Amino acid sequence: MPESLCPHCDEVVEFESISQNEEYPLKKGRVEISAQLSKCPACGGTFTDMMQEEFNYGLAVELFRKQNNLLFPHEIASIRKKYGLSQRQLCALLGWSPATLSSYENNKIQEQAHNQVLLFLREAWNMKRLLEVQRKNLYDKVAAKLEKRVEELIVEERESLERHQLNSIYEDIPVGIMTGNRSFDLRRFVQAAVYMLKRSGPEFKTKFLKLPFYADFLSFKRYNNSITGAVYAHLLHGPVPDQFLCLIDFLEREGHVEVSVREFEGGGGEVLTAITTPDTDCFSREEIRILDKVADKFKGRSAKWTRDYSHDEVAYKETELSEKISYEFAKELRID
Ligand SMILES: [Zn+2]
Repeated sequence: MPESLCPHCDEVVEFESISQNEEYPLKKGRVEISAQLSKCPACGGTFTDMMQEEFNYGLAVELFRKQNNLLFPHEIASIRKKYGLSQRQLCALLGWSPATLSSYENNKIQEQAHNQVLLFLREAWNMKRLLEVQRKNLYDKVAAKLEKRVEELIVEERESLERHQLNSIYEDIPVGIMTGNRSFDLRRFVQAAVYMLKRSGPEFKTKFLKLPFYADFLSFKRYNNSITGAVYAHLLHGPVPDQFLCLIDFLEREGHVEVSVREFEGGGGEVLTAITTPDTDCFSREEIRILDKVADKFKGRSAKWTRDYSHDEVAYKETELSEKISYEFAKELRID
């Protein structure tokens, strides 16, 4: 720091920068911050210059927002932009005075009640309800555009919720011997399933369900880690992913596979066909080799052959109907 005149003792000195805990008063309350100040080495007096003042104010506002669970200006702006509304349009919809959002987005601390409304509007479903009652506050064209956007967002939110729920389907089971030492990774499960299905060609559902079992158990046998973290269970048809119905539904709903019905001698069954191109970026080279090996092993084999083969697994013989299958059995898997 250059030398300057001390306002307390009139000496020309080089000030020292210090930080000091201070109660900082704001319009809506007080916070304690670690404030930056200048200290005179001659008299010990302190003062703040403009830059320090600005820094301390910024710190106080930031802390105040955190302590009171207030949205930050960029968060407010992103809620508004998500709906494609201008500051004035959203103010009109909410019945706020026109400059309110402009000041909030420029770091003015918002009213607690306004904050609650904005938090509420993070979910598109709530915006839909708001629009239903306040539609008259917007021009028809703006309202129609918003309505369309809200519908899109509701679909997106539902899908992301579903993904979240599916990601935690095995949440009750601790990561370890029942999950192959990995926590369930929906993306890996989907990509592994699509990859093997693409390689083997369309498969009956009952047969397809055994492919992830073999891939995960083979990976555990070789490397002590499963590929997807899925939990498997002993069902009538063989060892299959626990809660496989949700997983198959998801594959179909997200457009990864197509389900059709194929007739064969003595009945008919659902056939799965991979539609999307698998994304293998998340797998190691060793894991890809395992997926290849498993897909090739059962390629061209009938559902019945595969079922019988899987019924001879120690993992299957040593467990009971609907029991979850420990990866311990991987060491005795019939594939190496
Ligand atoms: Zn001084």
